Amino acid sequence: MAATTSLRTLLEDNTIPADPALIRSEAGAIRCLACGHRCSVKPGRAGVCRVRFNRDGELRVPAGYVAGVQVDPIEKKPFYHAFPGRNALSFGMLGCDFHRGYCQNWVTSQALRDDKAASLPRFGNAEDVINTALENDVRVMVSTYNEPLITSEWAVEIFKLARTTASPAALSPTATARPKC
Ligand code: SF4
Repeated sequence: MAATTSLRTLLEDNTIPADPALIRSEAGAIRCLACGHRCSVKPGRAGVCRVRFNRDGELRVPAGYVAGVQVDPIEKKPFYHAFPGRNALSFGMLGCDFHRGYCQNWVTSQALRDDKAASLPRFGNAEDVINTALENDVRVMVSTYNEPLITSEWAVEIFKLARTTASPAALSPTATARPKC
């Protein structure tokens, strides 16, 4: 079995239903509104990102793992002016709605497209991510590395928990969002 196929099978077990605010039902399909592609996803098919898929009429989305987690100076982020001098806990998942050979996070972003982009998920829950931040005395959480819009639900789960520890949170997207319509 190709590495991308077995990885997809592994990740399919770590999914949750999509946020109802990020989908729209259509005849025979679900329209995903999470990123600018606005995929119409039929049963048994996945969107352009390959991580959001229609299982028996329900859009399933990634949750319960990270593919990368790192403490970075906040100045590495596009919002360096927020909390200057502090560290941020960056976390990312697998897959992307873009396919660019020059992506600096190619090993994770293209893991579902290219067998050479070998990255494995580290399974866990939102508490695990928050605990990693607290252990490192970090109070800023950032969903980044791959395109965070395609894994919005997981980021929201972590960010809600982060608020209980008074931690600011942010997405670092590639600007593919579109207004909801
Ligand atoms: S998040 Fe994925 S499924 Fe949803 S619109 Fe974007 S590429 Fe399509």
